[in-house]
Amino acid sequence: MEQNKKESLNFIEQLIEGDLKEGNVQKVYTRFPPEPNGYLHIGHAKSICLNFGVAQKYEGQCHLRFDDTNPEKEETEYVEAIKADIKWLGFDWGSSEYYASDYFEQLYELAVRLIEKGAAYVDELSAVQFNELKGSPTEPGKESPFRDRPIVESLEIFEAMKSGAFQDGERVLRAKIDMSSPNMHMRDPILYRIKHMEHHRTGSKWCIYPTYDFAHGQSDSMEKITHSLCTLEFEVHRPLYDWLIRELGIHPSKQTEFARLNLSYTIVSKRSLRELVEGHYVAGWDDPRMPTISGIRRRGFTAKSIRKFTDTIGVARRDGITDVALLEHAVREDLNKTAHRIFGIMDPVKLIITNWPEDHQEIMMAENNPEDENSGTREMPFTRELFIDRSDFMEDPPSPRKWFRLGPDREVRLKKGYIIKCTGFKKSEKGEVIEIYAEYDPNTKSGQDTSGKKVKGTLGWVSAPHAVAVEIRMYDRLFLIENLNKIEDDFKNHLNPDSLTINTQALLEPSARDAQVGDQFQFERIGYFRVDEDSHSEKLIFNRTLTLRDGWTKKNK
Ligand code: ATP
Ligand code: MG
Repeated sequence: MEQNKKESLNFIEQLIEGDLKEGNVQKVYTRFPPEPNGYLHIGHAKSICLNFGVAQKYEGQCHLRFDDTNPEKEETEYVEAIKADIKWLGFDWGSSEYYASDYFEQLYELAVRLIEKGAAYVDELSAVQFNELKGSPTEPGKESPFRDRPIVESLEIFEAMKSGAFQDGERVLRAKIDMSSPNMHMRDPILYRIKHMEHHRTGSKWCIYPTYDFAHGQSDSMEKITHSLCTLEFEVHRPLYDWLIRELGIHPSKQTEFARLNLSYTIVSKRSLRELVEGHYVAGWDDPRMPTISGIRRRGFTAKSIRKFTDTIGVARRDGITDVALLEHAVREDLNKTAHRIFGIMDPVKLIITNWPEDHQEIMMAENNPEDENSGTREMPFTRELFIDRSDFMEDPPSPRKWFRLGPDREVRLKKGYIIKCTGFKKSEKGEVIEIYAEYDPNTKSGQDTSGKKVKGTLGWVSAPHAVAVEIRMYDRLFLIENLNKIEDDFKNHLNPDSLTINTQALLEPSARDAQVGDQFQFERIGYFRVDEDSHSEKLIFNRTLTLRDGWTKKNK
């Protein structure tokens, strides 16, 4: 896109360019390999943008492969949600949609080949014995008494395992590598386990399932993936993947690790996110407070801003924590350019223009988005009775140099309307201001002002008889602490009790009446909002995407 700008390459791009130049690789194949056991989150977005991004850049291909080797937690619902999320992010896998479960037959054959070579054996230790022999990171493991059983015996038992002769856990297939390796993953890792359980795609066909480690690398090889990009925690698994490639003589997919995305005030782990859903701490995977792709989409974060964010943070090999404010900044920047402006009054109080004739109405014009001259204009009726925000009025305000808004005898401009002067107000018995009175100056109509008056304050307003009553869901950060990787207690102890507050008294200008689910707005001076799926014929429901500026940092430091 930005052809003239000299780009600096990240370390993965450098590697790929090197491989292409040296002819190690003709065409780049990458893959995004989600396990369909939950919804995708913002961390996955980083991996998606990276894998699909480099494939695009080098005219290669990125596969979508579901690593669905664990029947316990996997569901078709997740498969569909994952596909929708990747498409929404703006990426396309074409016809390259694969499932590790489609390779079960081939994986079984590879396992048999390993046994035949004497590189794998069937073990029948109990779980307790297994753990005893495993050793620890500082202490070598011990070999199982079944390790050297004859090859034919292992072959026979493995086949019996497949045909259902054993209960769960009674036998496993293990690679025969090195029980004294300092790398625990090389101590005869399990390749197959028995699970009498239905699989979301293969039904009851199989009762043995390959482990993630066995299936993942082999699937990469079967798809001839050239660059298998994964997060740093898999670095210690690489020797095993390389060992399997050597033993089986299969396509040598090259694994390269990068740092996972950690975000401040955010949990990026499917397991923890599922706990929030199942414990009803949130309304679902797509609750707008969730860092899932579906949650932040519903909240109003845009695909473009997420792509921009992942671009900004780049890829590195060092683990760290990224400030969530960077993501929010990308969202504000995008919405500022695209979201239509409207007036919204969050805490309405009535303003009566006493010198305005009773049934008179004038139409004021406002640009939909001053940042975009093609965005058109909208009409706003101006009438005798208006609503303004309670916070824009003070009964006894400080000096006009400090307080630009409305107070007795003070003048302000009603944006896109007239300059008004406050002449009084009325209070309820409880002492609350219920009506404010003002007079307008007919020579000050916005765009046609001949008065020469200068006022510092400009207020939003809506015409009382035209105002649209809506519900607004005000979201704040889901967690109160910055680094959730550092806590020792239950992460749920750190949930922000005020992450959702509901405003049922807010009023919007009448142009909002036609808003559709998914429409996004900037309520002037307040923030960005999106029309939620829960809206119904009686009422529009808005999610607050973000406040106009980052208020959190100030509030909490
Ligand atoms: P989780 O820990 O949330 O369950 P996972 O790694 O188990 O994540 P997978 O479905 O296996 O989830 O992930 C698919 C791909 O997304 C993997 O290649 C993984 O490395 C990558 N990924 C997951 N979380 C992150 C993250 N926070 N940052 C970058 N990439 C990630
Ligand atoms: Mg995983």
